[in-house]
Amino acid sequence: MPQDLYGRNDMAGEPQDDCLFCKIVAGQIPATIVRETDTTLAFRDINPQAPTHVLVIPKAHYETAAALAAAEPQLAADVLGATQAVAEDEKLESYRTVFNTGSGAGQTVWHAHAHVIGGRGLHWPPG
Ligand code: AMP
Repeated sequence: MPQDLYGRNDMAGEPQDDCLFCKIVAGQIPATIVRETDTTLAFRDINPQAPTHVLVIPKAHYETAAALAAAEPQLAADVLGATQAVAEDEKLESYRTVFNTGSGAGQTVWHAHAHVIGGRGLHWPPG
Protein backbone atom coordinates (compact mmCIF):
# COMPACT_ATOMS: atom_id res chain seq x y z
CA MET A 1 0.00 0.00 0.00
CA PRO A 2 1.58 3.29 -1.01
CA GLN A 3 1.86 6.09 1.51
CA ASP A 4 1.01 8.55 -1.25
CA LEU A 5 -1.03 7.63 -4.34
CA TYR A 6 0.82 10.34 -6.25
CA GLY A 7 4.17 8.72 -5.67
CA ARG A 8 5.91 11.36 -3.64
CA ASN A 9 8.45 8.98 -2.22
CA ASP A 10 12.16 8.36 -2.66
CA MET A 11 11.90 5.02 -4.47
CA ALA A 12 9.85 6.13 -7.48
CA GLY A 13 11.07 4.59 -10.71
CA GLU A 14 13.49 2.13 -9.09
CA PRO A 15 12.90 -1.64 -9.30
CA GLN A 16 11.46 -3.10 -6.11
CA ASP A 17 12.51 -6.55 -4.88
CA ASP A 18 9.04 -7.33 -3.53
CA CYS A 19 7.09 -6.18 -6.62
CA LEU A 20 5.41 -8.87 -8.73
CA PHE A 21 5.45 -6.82 -11.93
CA CYS A 22 9.09 -5.77 -11.45
CA LYS A 23 9.85 -9.50 -11.27
CA ILE A 24 8.00 -10.03 -14.56
CA VAL A 25 10.03 -7.19 -16.11
CA ALA A 26 13.21 -8.87 -14.83
CA GLY A 27 12.16 -12.27 -16.22
CA GLN A 28 12.07 -13.79 -12.72
CA ILE A 29 8.36 -14.70 -13.00
CA PRO A 30 6.87 -16.04 -16.24
CA ALA A 31 4.24 -14.12 -18.15
CA THR A 32 2.66 -14.33 -21.56
CA ILE A 33 4.19 -11.25 -23.10
CA VAL A 34 2.36 -9.84 -26.11
CA ARG A 35 4.27 -6.62 -26.68
CA GLU A 36 7.46 -4.98 -25.47
CA THR A 37 9.12 -1.62 -26.02
CA ASP A 38 12.16 -0.05 -24.40
CA THR A 39 9.93 1.43 -21.71
CA THR A 40 6.82 -0.74 -21.52
CA LEU A 41 5.72 -4.35 -21.28
CA ALA A 42 2.33 -5.89 -22.11
CA PHE A 43 1.32 -9.36 -20.95
CA ARG A 44 -1.87 -11.37 -20.51
CA ASP A 45 -3.70 -11.11 -17.20
CA ILE A 46 -3.45 -14.36 -15.23
CA ASN A 47 -7.16 -14.11 -14.36
CA PRO A 48 -8.76 -12.76 -17.53
CA GLN A 49 -12.11 -11.01 -17.25
CA ALA A 50 -12.75 -11.04 -21.00
CA PRO A 51 -11.47 -12.83 -24.13
CA THR A 52 -8.76 -10.17 -24.32
CA HIS A 53 -7.37 -9.01 -20.99
CA VAL A 54 -3.87 -7.59 -21.26
CA LEU A 55 -1.94 -5.57 -18.70
CA VAL A 56 0.34 -2.79 -19.93
CA ILE A 57 2.99 -1.58 -17.50
CA PRO A 58 5.88 0.83 -17.45
CA LYS A 59 9.10 -1.11 -16.91
CA ALA A 60 10.05 1.47 -14.29
CA HIS A 61 8.37 1.00 -10.93
CA TYR A 62 5.68 3.47 -9.95
CA GLU A 63 3.08 2.33 -7.49
CA THR A 64 0.12 3.97 -9.19
CA ALA A 65 -0.87 5.53 -12.51
CA ALA A 66 -1.10 8.84 -10.65
CA ALA A 67 2.50 8.53 -9.46
CA LEU A 68 3.64 7.59 -12.94
CA ALA A 69 1.87 10.55 -14.57
CA ALA A 70 3.22 12.97 -11.98
CA ALA A 71 6.82 11.77 -12.25
CA GLU A 72 7.21 10.80 -15.91
CA PRO A 73 4.49 12.13 -18.23
CA GLN A 74 6.26 10.80 -21.33
CA LEU A 75 6.39 7.33 -19.83
CA ALA A 76 2.68 7.59 -18.99
CA ALA A 77 2.10 8.47 -22.65
CA ASP A 78 4.19 5.45 -23.68
CA VAL A 79 1.91 3.22 -21.60
CA LEU A 80 -1.20 4.76 -23.14
CA GLY A 81 0.25 4.35 -26.62
CA ALA A 82 1.03 0.72 -25.89
CA THR A 83 -2.59 0.10 -24.86
CA GLN A 84 -3.70 1.34 -28.28
CA ALA A 85 -1.12 -0.88 -30.01
CA VAL A 86 -2.28 -3.92 -28.03
CA ALA A 87 -5.91 -3.23 -28.94
CA GLU A 88 -4.91 -3.03 -32.59
CA ASP A 89 -2.82 -6.23 -32.36
CA GLU A 90 -5.79 -7.98 -30.73
CA LYS A 91 -8.10 -6.63 -33.46
CA LEU A 92 -10.49 -5.16 -30.91
CA GLU A 93 -13.27 -3.05 -32.41
CA SER A 94 -14.03 -1.62 -29.00
CA TYR A 95 -12.31 -2.04 -25.70
CA ARG A 96 -11.86 -0.55 -22.25
CA THR A 97 -8.64 0.81 -20.78
CA VAL A 98 -8.70 0.86 -16.98
CA PHE A 99 -6.22 2.10 -14.40
CA ASN A 100 -7.37 1.09 -10.93
CA THR A 101 -5.79 3.65 -8.61
CA GLY A 102 -5.98 2.94 -4.89
CA SER A 103 -7.34 -0.04 -3.00
CA GLY A 104 -10.84 1.46 -2.92
CA ALA A 105 -10.85 1.30 -6.70
CA GLY A 106 -9.69 -2.31 -6.75
CA GLN A 107 -5.94 -1.89 -7.16
CA THR A 108 -4.20 -5.01 -5.85
CA VAL A 109 -0.77 -4.84 -7.50
CA TRP A 110 1.24 -1.76 -6.57
CA HIS A 111 3.04 -1.27 -9.85
CA ALA A 112 1.13 1.00 -12.23
CA HIS A 113 -0.71 -0.89 -14.94
CA ALA A 114 -3.42 -0.41 -17.52
CA HIS A 115 -5.93 -3.16 -18.13
CA VAL A 116 -6.91 -3.52 -21.79
CA ILE A 117 -10.18 -5.44 -21.80
CA GLY A 118 -12.18 -6.42 -24.85
CA GLY A 119 -13.61 -9.13 -27.03
CA ARG A 120 -17.04 -9.08 -25.40
CA GLY A 121 -19.73 -6.53 -24.63
CA LEU A 122 -18.83 -4.27 -21.70
CA HIS A 123 -21.38 -2.64 -19.44
CA TRP A 124 -21.28 0.91 -18.13
CA PRO A 125 -20.95 1.99 -15.40
CA PRO A 126 -18.53 -0.66 -14.10
CA GLY A 127 -19.13 -2.10 -10.65
P1 AMP B 1 -5.44 -4.50 -10.15
O1 AMP B 1 -6.48 -5.21 -9.33
O2 AMP B 1 -5.97 -3.37 -10.99
O3 AMP B 1 -4.26 -4.10 -9.31
O4 AMP B 1 -4.94 -5.56 -11.23
C1 AMP B 1 -3.96 -6.50 -10.96
C2 AMP B 1 -4.12 -7.57 -11.99
O5 AMP B 1 -2.94 -8.35 -12.02
C3 AMP B 1 -5.27 -8.54 -11.74
O6 AMP B 1 -6.20 -8.48 -12.81
C4 AMP B 1 -4.60 -9.90 -11.63
O7 AMP B 1 -5.35 -10.95 -12.19
C5 AMP B 1 -3.30 -9.66 -12.37
N1 AMP B 1 -2.20 -10.53 -12.01
C6 AMP B 1 -1.79 -10.87 -10.77
N2 AMP B 1 -0.70 -11.67 -10.83
C7 AMP B 1 -0.41 -11.81 -12.14
C8 AMP B 1 0.60 -12.51 -12.87
N3 AMP B 1 1.56 -13.24 -12.24
N4 AMP B 1 0.58 -12.45 -14.21
C9 AMP B 1 -0.36 -11.76 -14.86
N5 AMP B 1 -1.33 -11.05 -14.24
C10 AMP B 1 -1.37 -11.09 -12.90
